[in-house]
Amino acid sequence: MSIRKRLIIIGGGIAGLTAASSARRQWPGAQIAVVEADPHLAYNKIALGAFAAGKSPRDRLRLLPPLSLERQRIETVANARVRELAAQERKIVLDDGRRLAYDTLVLATGARPIVPPIEGIDAPGVLPLWSMSDALLARERLKEARSVTVVGGGVLGVEMAAAFREAGRDVTIAEAQGELLPRLLDETAGALYTGALRAAGIELSLGDPVAAITRTLLGLEVRTAGGAVFASDMVLVTAGVRPQIELAQEAGLACRKGIVVNRFLRTSAPDILACGNCIELEGRLQPLWNPALEQGSVAGSNAFGDTLTYASAPPILHVKTPRTPLFVCGERPGEGAKTALEQRTKSTYRAAVLDDEKRVTYAVFVGDTARAQLLERAVISGAPMPAGPVASGDLEALLDALDDDTQDDRRAWSCRVCGYVHEGGAPPQVCPVCAVGPDQFLAA
Ligand SMILES: Cc1cc2nc3c(=O)[nH]c(=O)nc-3n(C[C@H](O)[C@H](O)[C@H](O)COP(=O)(O)OP(=O)(O)OC[C@H]3O[C@@H](n4cnc5c(N)ncnc54)[C@H](O)[C@@H]3O)c2cc1C
Repeated sequence: MSIRKRLIIIGGGIAGLTAASSARRQWPGAQIAVVEADPHLAYNKIALGAFAAGKSPRDRLRLLPPLSLERQRIETVANARVRELAAQERKIVLDDGRRLAYDTLVLATGARPIVPPIEGIDAPGVLPLWSMSDALLARERLKEARSVTVVGGGVLGVEMAAAFREAGRDVTIAEAQGELLPRLLDETAGALYTGALRAAGIELSLGDPVAAITRTLLGLEVRTAGGAVFASDMVLVTAGVRPQIELAQEAGLACRKGIVVNRFLRTSAPDILACGNCIELEGRLQPLWNPALEQGSVAGSNAFGDTLTYASAPPILHVKTPRTPLFVCGERPGEGAKTALEQRTKSTYRAAVLDDEKRVTYAVFVGDTARAQLLERAVISGAPMPAGPVASGDLEALLDALDDDTQDDRRAWSCRVCGYVHEGGAPPQVCPVCAVGPDQFLAA
């Protein structure tokens, strides 16, 4: 590339930062800038829960080594919200009126927490948890709080409840649906997991939506439609997230629930790509870390010419409830699913579901996630499983067979931040539990 083309990336989350690094590798001569509304940049969002609960120090949130962006010649403009995208003129307008010109723009604006229409949801002491600013506030409030109600029993809700419980607080999860994580867990996994959370001292209010939150002299009261009342010093709302699409929408880009992109991560407008939690690809949203990271890599690489395509990967979740770890990979099968290999004990459950071609399409491990990586790899690779263990219906034999296949390059790597153990010839690019990079792994 002879002329110095300008790439601007809006959003300094994992998608935007990965796009910047990937663009730098692919387009060494380009000018690259990341514009971020928040004052905080390059922190590990996945580790915010432990930080908010006071379980880990702030330096554990650092995503990149100091000066990493400067060394890559990536300019950062923090604390600067983009208020307008003038796509015809190839310019963006910041809140303070500055206008920045680009040749290519990458939208990596992420998602924002859904605020459910509950009376009193805006009362002081009712908080979301999605950004560093949210986590700093929650951490401060928690110092004074003895009881916490978490509204919403999704992955973030259960993780936060577990973290607050471990920090010694009385914790209630109030969830409108009758089960926890019903789209992820089969019946057995759901029952075991729910029982384990209760045994850890977390009160669960299921199937009874929160109707109102009231501030009283003593604190907050969370009232459900069924008439239950939970007195709380702090209320955390984790009711899901919604893609931030307003900039794109107002500029006339095709949007549905997310900003619509093709497999090159190009939007409907020339020279504008999008990646991360703000996008919709083939009708699907995936508000998760790994897809955001991989999409960032593709979008940055394609900034001035298409080099890569992005293919949706199955969802992978390592749910951070340390007393009862949970791993889920792939789509929960519907009724009448094919072969299921299961193994149960009183406190653990492991299952894999295979299709007609003997490919693993879904795996769930509750209470013991030690060999989950073997099935994670099997789901991602889409390779058929060895016939013997499948025919015998013996999950342990299947895991042994998968283990033998990786025996040659087997080595264990332990994450210094969260203790996750990875097996393989090299540490992973990113820790699937707390998302730090390979430099945080030690040979175990
Ligand atoms: C506590 C917690 C635990 C999590 N655990 C997991 C997990 O275990 N596994 C998993 O897969 N996922 C997990 N997630 C979700 C995961 O962190 C997100 O999916 C991922 O970080 C999203 O990255 P992103 O870059 O797409 O968006 P974001 O990180 O949201 O970044 C988007 C950025 O764009 C900025 N922005 C938006 N609009 C503008 C504008 N107009 N001008 C300037 N800047 C703008 C925002 O300020 C934001 O910083 C967790 C999230 C949290 C909060």
